[in-house]
Amino acid sequence: MTPDLMEEGARRLQRAAHPVATGATASGGREAGFSHIATPGEVDVTHGRILYLEEVSVSFDGFKAINKLSLDIAPGELRCIIGPNGAGKTTMMDIITGKTRPDSGTVFFGSTIDLLRHTEPQIAQLGIGRKFQKPTVFEQLTVFENLELALKTDKRVRPSMAFRLDSAQRDRLAEVLQTIHLAGSERRLAGNLSHGQKQWLEIGMLLMQDPKLLLLDEPVAGMTDEETARTAELFLTLKGRHSLMVVEHDMGFIKTISEIVTVLCDGAVLAQGTLDEVQADERVIEVYLGR
Ligand code: ADP
Ligand code: MG
Repeated sequence: MTPDLMEEGARRLQRAAHPVATGATASGGREAGFSHIATPGEVDVTHGRILYLEEVSVSFDGFKAINKLSLDIAPGELRCIIGPNGAGKTTMMDIITGKTRPDSGTVFFGSTIDLLRHTEPQIAQLGIGRKFQKPTVFEQLTVFENLELALKTDKRVRPSMAFRLDSAQRDRLAEVLQTIHLAGSERRLAGNLSHGQKQWLEIGMLLMQDPKLLLLDEPVAGMTDEETARTAELFLTLKGRHSLMVVEHDMGFIKTISEIVTVLCDGAVLAQGTLDEVQADERVIEVYLGR
């Protein structure tokens, strides 16, 4: 075993034995003794899937927002999700991240982690990061401080009064600054950034925790054309290292980044394929593109 693996193993054991002292959440602490609660680590993708939803349904006051939705994503894939308003795109992300519990169905992270048995903070710790529509950076802090904060609030990092970045963390921060096109802007106040830059900073905060799967809900809404083009570039650099699920209405953006596009409608998959394929599909044109 390499020293790195040994260290990781030791940390996991320590977390299991002293969940609260090592920074696990209260519920994580309560449940840490049960074997079905996974700790952050490798996701088993031996079956070629990092995310797997089968026959998932949820109703709100009798209305089926998600209706027997089945969908899976390969490791390193950049999946685009399109579909009319009310199709259930955001609700699907709520289910994956543990914010909403489905009435029925299966949601797995890799082959072995049943996400329906984990809480929202546990799911984040497992390596699923989520970007909401509106940027939620800390405006009164600098770009650097926002990224540093993302590490401090990472439950995998031991909390400490005198938090100092170690050299690996400093390297990671510098790398993330490059990736999100904010190298050289680290001393700027987040509040003074453009809308697009705030969105990139928030993506950077997610990247600091090195998520395995990133869910992004309408990431280019409100961006200028140039910011949209740079965001496409950014997403293309992220795929491979991370798996991404991107909900967007901007077809030019989708065209630049897409491999497989899934069309959601009435809480289920209406069509799936390349953008050209789904754009040529009569049913897709009727419910979405032909408006
Ligand atoms: P999309 O993101 O594709 O536009 P949503 O997932 O936001 O669609 O919504 C799907 C449907 O579920 C909509 O009709 C919406 O009003 C409804 N819905 C979503 N969340 C809730 C909720 N918490 N309570 C009641 N209805 C909801
Ligand atoms: Mg939505």
